[in-house]
Amino acid sequence: TRCPVVVLGAGPAGLTVGNILRAAGVDCLVLETESRQFIEQRPRAGVIEEWAVRGLERRGLAGRLLERAEGHSECEFRFDGRGHRFAYTELTGRHHWVYPQPLLVTDLVREYADVRGGEIRFGVRDVRLHDLDSDRPAVSYTDPDTGERLLVRCDFVAGCDGARGASRAALPPSARTSRHDYGIGWLALLAEAPPSADCVLFGMHPAGFAGHMPRGPEVTRYYLQCPPGDDPRNWPDDRVWEQLQQRLRAADRPPLTEGRLLEKRVLDMHNYVVEPMVSGRLFLAGDAAHLVAPIAAKGMNLALNDAFLLGDGLVARLTEGDGTGLDGYSAACLRRVWDYQEFSEWLSEIYHGTSHGDPYRAGTTLARLRRLFSSPVAAAAFAEQYLGTAGAY
Ligand code: FAD
Repeated sequence: TRCPVVVLGAGPAGLTVGNILRAAGVDCLVLETESRQFIEQRPRAGVIEEWAVRGLERRGLAGRLLERAEGHSECEFRFDGRGHRFAYTELTGRHHWVYPQPLLVTDLVREYADVRGGEIRFGVRDVRLHDLDSDRPAVSYTDPDTGERLLVRCDFVAGCDGARGASRAALPPSARTSRHDYGIGWLALLAEAPPSADCVLFGMHPAGFAGHMPRGPEVTRYYLQCPPGDDPRNWPDDRVWEQLQQRLRAADRPPLTEGRLLEKRVLDMHNYVVEPMVSGRLFLAGDAAHLVAPIAAKGMNLALNDAFLLGDGLVARLTEGDGTGLDGYSAACLRRVWDYQEFSEWLSEIYHGTSHGDPYRAGTTLARLRRLFSSPVAAAAFAEQYLGTAGAY
C-alpha cells in the first residue's frame, strides 16, 4: 500500500501531526505498538504551557481541554521550613494549564480517528523503517491480528514513537546524540488523594527534593528524590508519606492529605538531544528526538511544538510543494529544545542543590532561591522560562 505520510507513535506528538494532516486533507497512517485503551490511560505529564494550548486551539484541538483544564497562576517553594508563594501570572500575564496527558491523548485520538476519519493501527509489532534516503521510503510492521508482515510506501515518515521507538534506532551513525545524566532518581507517585494545596509545591530539603502536582480533584502527583535505579519496593507507603510530609513540611501550612498510592515508578533523570532531527525522509518529533527529565515539566510541550512545525511543514510540502518549513524544521525545533534543556539544568540545581551533602552547594542554592523572592528582575526571568514563551525562537 501507499500513503503520503506514515506517523509512528500515537502520543501527543504523533496524534497532533496526524490531526494537522487530516485537517488539510492529507492522508496518513498512524502506527502504534500499544492498544487504544492503554494510551488513553497512561499517566504522565500534566502541565501545558499557554502558547501550546493556543497552538492546539488554532488547529481545532483544544475544545475539551479549554472546558476542563485548570489554569494555574502560582507555585510555591518550600524551604527553610516555610512556604514561599511565587505568583508567576502576576509577573507575566500568562498561566499554566493543568490537563493530564491521558485526557489530551484521548481527545486527540477521538478527533483524529472518529471525527477527521484518520487511519490508525494499534498493537502493531516489529516496526522497521526502509529506504529513508530515497524519495520513496517505507515502513514495515507485523499485523497483530493476522501475523502478516505489511509494507507501506510513503513520501515521509514522522518518527513520533517516543524514547524507545524504532525511529531513533534507524538514524545513521552520523546523527549526533548529546546526553546528560543528572545522577539522580525521582520516585514518581500518583496518589488517590485531593491536592494538599491549590498549586504546585517544590520542597527543597536536606533529605532530598519533593514535589506536589495537582492533577484533578481526586488525584495528585508527587515526586521524591531517590538514588538513580532505586527499587520502588524500597518505598513502602508509610515511608513515602513520612518522607513527603517531612520534605514538604512548612510551619505556616497544613500537612499533606494522604491517600492510596496508584503508581510508584523510579525515573532516572537524564536528557538527550538528537541533532539534526531529520535523516533523509524521516523527521523525528517529541521524545524520539529529545528527552528532558520531568524536572521542569517541559517534555510534552516540546513534543507539541515539534508537532505543530512538522504538521504545518508536511502540509505545505504535500499540498503546495513548498518545502521551506521542512527545510528549517530541525533548526526551528532545536532552538526551543536547547532553551528548555538549559532551564531544566538550572532548575535541577535549585531542586537538588540543598540535599547534595555539600554545604557550599547548599549555600549557593539557597542564595539562588532567595533571589527569586528579593529581586524582581530575577523573578521575572524565572517566570518567563518556567512558563515558556510563544514566539522568542
Ligand atoms: P510518547 O508520549 O512517548 O508517545 C510515543 C508513542 O509511540 C507511544 O504511544 C508508544 O507506545 C509508541 N511507540 C513506541 N515504540 C513504537 C514503535 N516502534 N512503533 C510505533 N509506535 C511506537 N512533560 C511535560 O510537559 N509536563 C509534565 O508535567 C511531564 N511529566 C512527566 C511525568 C512522567 C512520570 C513522565 C514519564 C514524563 C513526563 N513528561 C512531562 C514528559 C512527557 O510525558 C513526554 O515528553 C511526552 O509524552 C512526549 O510525547 P511524544 O508523543 O513525543 O512521545
